[in-house]
Amino acid sequence: MSRYSGPVCRQCRRENTKLFLKGDRCYTDKCSLERRNYAPGQHGQRRSKLSDYGAQLREKQKVKRSYGLQEKQFRLYFTKADRMRGVTGENLLILLERRFDSVIYRLGFAASRAQARTLVRHGHFQINGHKANIPSQLVRPNDVISLIEKSRQIACINESLDSVMRRGVPSWVELDRDAYKGTMKTLPVRAELTTPEINERLIVELYSK
Ligand code: SF4
Repeated sequence: MSRYSGPVCRQCRRENTKLFLKGDRCYTDKCSLERRNYAPGQHGQRRSKLSDYGAQLREKQKVKRSYGLQEKQFRLYFTKADRMRGVTGENLLILLERRFDSVIYRLGFAASRAQARTLVRHGHFQINGHKANIPSQLVRPNDVISLIEKSRQIACINESLDSVMRRGVPSWVELDRDAYKGTMKTLPVRAELTTPEINERLIVELYSK
């Protein structure tokens, strides 16, 4: 299936959760979910009780959409998480957070993960001084991510950095705004992965059938 290219706010309304897909707008009262807090479509205002399967499916879709992944990619992350030591659900979320595009977003170089993915693909960043243009590359602790010199004038990147300076970055990354550099200090911490709220146990149940 191809990547979804319709209005992203519909996805938040479908999941009834803010997925933060649109940058600064998500933090204002212009957010579509604030104004129309019901599912899109003709029957959207009828909220029926979800079955167990429905709840598991919605939780999976929520995470998948939040990271902008397709089903096949998402399933591969789950398989990898399942083979790792530790709790599968937590492993899954940590793997997703370690994606290069997600780290770029968390550091504030981009207003959304979709924008981060585009910037990465266009070759604006380096990891440890080497060219890095694969959004799915997994970032490791102590990796240093930098914006290349000639991209430091790009307005959307500077606006996004200013905005994240106001909101703050998560504890597992560190941003040096003036040097246009960021570091992943440690692996992401599950307790801090709270936006959107995720019940990863439901995803494990879905895929364990
Ligand atoms: Fe749209 Fe962002 Fe609100 Fe989601 S959180 S509905 S993407 S504005």
